[in-house]
Amino acid sequence: MIKISRAKLTDGRVVDIDIENKVITKLQTSTGKPTADAIDAGSKLLLPGLVDLHTHLREPGREDSETILTGSKAAVAGGFTAVSAMANTNPVADNAGVVEQIYRLGKEAGLIDVQPIGAVTQGLNGEKLSEMGAMADSIAKVRIFSDDGECVSDPLIMRRALEYVKIFNGIIAQHAQEPRLTVNAQMNEGIVSARIGLPGWPAVAEEAIIARDILLAEHVQSRLHICHLTTAGGVELIRWAKARGIQVTAEVTPHHLLLTDDLVENYDPIFKVNPPLRTQKDVMALREGLAEGVIDIVATDHAPHPAEDKDCEFHAGACGMLGLETALSIVVKTMVQSNLMSWADLVNRMSITPAKIAGYKSQGQDIAIGMPANLILIDQEKSWKVDKNLMKSKSKNTPFHGTELPAVVTDVFHEGEQVMKNGEILDKGTSQNE
Ligand SMILES: [Zn+2]
Repeated sequence: MIKISRAKLTDGRVVDIDIENKVITKLQTSTGKPTADAIDAGSKLLLPGLVDLHTHLREPGREDSETILTGSKAAVAGGFTAVSAMANTNPVADNAGVVEQIYRLGKEAGLIDVQPIGAVTQGLNGEKLSEMGAMADSIAKVRIFSDDGECVSDPLIMRRALEYVKIFNGIIAQHAQEPRLTVNAQMNEGIVSARIGLPGWPAVAEEAIIARDILLAEHVQSRLHICHLTTAGGVELIRWAKARGIQVTAEVTPHHLLLTDDLVENYDPIFKVNPPLRTQKDVMALREGLAEGVIDIVATDHAPHPAEDKDCEFHAGACGMLGLETALSIVVKTMVQSNLMSWADLVNRMSITPAKIAGYKSQGQDIAIGMPANLILIDQEKSWKVDKNLMKSKSKNTPFHGTELPAVVTDVFHEGEQVMKNGEILDKGTSQNE
């Protein structure tokens, strides 16, 4: 049994809890004194574990960037107890065999729930639908399908995919990027791209696909999720769609809530990401959209890359940034410290709602008796300095190296077992697969 004393909940209550057999078995108002044989939270915040619906774990195929084990450790360090692994692995997760392999490796690592996302089309080629039914029926019970990295740009394929997943209440997660409008694109199309002479990735290339797909989702009455929204216009489209009752949800990444395209001015590929960093106006619209709930969730788009793919000229650099270990702190900095959101809102956007969208029953639940013990403790008074060399991820491509960030995740409990203690990941599963 695990006991935690003096834990602060987001509603202000300070409680003592017991955890047994994966669930919370006791919860009572704290006496204010630490209990013997308990983990003393000392008024740290106790939250349900965070849930990330957009993680690139790279295994199988690019184990030099990340493995399911190292990615699980990065997730734990960032306060996540569940992640959804994107399908753009090698081989692509477009059949039951690969998604079952990813699911099993996640279980073996044993630190968090690793839930594979299935590809929409075979080999992410955008032409033929993948074996979505077989993936849904597999032990991994896939419900989210995405060609992320690529856009499902053919409207007929997108329509068929949306129709198909209705059978098992699945959802299509779209990487909204009209390919013809983004040929050779390197960064946001705007004043900065014109000044420094890099080919632009215009907002309309994202918005055109979002507009088309919300109309398709309405037409076939299916569920659509928009990955990594980046533009003010995109927020308006989602707001319009929701007002119309269309079943659409949307995510924003932590980096798009903070960083802007002028950072690209020094041609440092660390800031190269797809979709690209946009303008301050977009950043403000994304923050407002998230606060309002037009944007449902934060998702990291954690995209590990080895050093050689980033230590190069801008145009040759790989797209993507690490996200898992800094996500919570960036959301605290951009949304909570700016008074746009409360801690309860943060829990909603980073745990409760992502778990609901994905249908993860044991994640994102209230902290109450009988509820699953996927929990994290956070020291909300402390800050930390990001050091790329201390990342649990196998890669180091964080744009936040050297930055002081608020809120420290200190302890993580997964299925009632402690997997991180005072910032140290407990040695579970380290013998396998590293
Ligand atoms: Zn993407």
